[in-house]
Amino acid sequence: MNLRKISIDAALPEKARSRILIIYTGGTFGMTYDKDGVLIPFDFASILEHLPTLKNLSLEITVISFEIPIDSSNIDPGHWQAIGEIIKDNYDAHDGFVVLHGTDTMAFTASALSFMLEGLHKPVIFTGAQLPIMEPRSDARENLITSLDIASARRDGLPLVNEVCIYFDYVLLRGNRSKKVESMQFDAFNSGNYPPLAKAGVKIDYNFAAMTVASPSTLTLRKSFETNISILKLFPGISQEIVHAILSIPGLKAVVMETYGAGNAPTLPWLTEELKRAIENGVIIVNISQCPGGRVLQGRYETSKKLQQIGVIGGADMTTEAAVTKLMLLIGEYGPARARELVGLSLAGELTA
Ligand code: ASP
Repeated sequence: MNLRKISIDAALPEKARSRILIIYTGGTFGMTYDKDGVLIPFDFASILEHLPTLKNLSLEITVISFEIPIDSSNIDPGHWQAIGEIIKDNYDAHDGFVVLHGTDTMAFTASALSFMLEGLHKPVIFTGAQLPIMEPRSDARENLITSLDIASARRDGLPLVNEVCIYFDYVLLRGNRSKKVESMQFDAFNSGNYPPLAKAGVKIDYNFAAMTVASPSTLTLRKSFETNISILKLFPGISQEIVHAILSIPGLKAVVMETYGAGNAPTLPWLTEELKRAIENGVIIVNISQCPGGRVLQGRYETSKKLQQIGVIGGADMTTEAAVTKLMLLIGEYGPARARELVGLSLAGELTA
């Protein structure tokens, strides 16, 4: 991946209070309109013209930009690896990290990074915008300025935030609990199963009880991904052909099965048989609810008891984004057997045990 380093002349009157690295990947934040009125990414150097106040924050800011910024619909694990490597390579020289990323897949990337950055004890704040920064009514300015503030916040000399988060529209959310829920209004994200880590008003009010407490550790970057996994979303009337086709993909390693309510699925004998056969063939199946709030409780209803009996793993209150990226990373790093043991445990605050 080609990267470009941009130094911002912060014109500091005094010593910088913090050293922040911005990683610019693309997204609406820095887009412009082409001649047909279609939004396309443009490079970060031009963004600075729209945000002169960056120079007044008493921060030492460095920007590393993807050489070709992308719409986040084009993100793949190769980009996650690049972001992880940038953070690892620049970890000691910076106090915090802000990742500018398109909103469409931000929850996937933030989830992936939360599992990749093992032992993280500095803030990694993802943000972006619903309207390009060049637009007068853009949300880009507030999202970036407050993200920088959060990434540089300290308490007793230590970083206040020690995890991967999404900051958007005045709320700070745990990255691996977040979902994009809105494409037209500014409140693009929520985390239905976990309280916001902070709300930004006149002051930034942190919810310390909900935040990760850093244990002194060294950062280890995990970055092998297995991509032969799938999502199977149940719906009334789903046919055996569809389920069979997905579960018969050659080399398939895992399936995130999106079920109803508290983890329920039809009690159709053919469905149980298809799932059972796949599990016997080594496919890991994780049960995630289509409900954005609540949790999977296999065995609570008759419609989930069978799933438990045949070895479907209950995903508790994990988001699909967290389950998918966690499975990809765990299988890639440790292989299927260990991944099966770890996937139901909380590794980075992504589920409530
Ligand atoms: N399509 C854009 C992206 O995800 C949307 C956004 O940034 O809000 O890159």
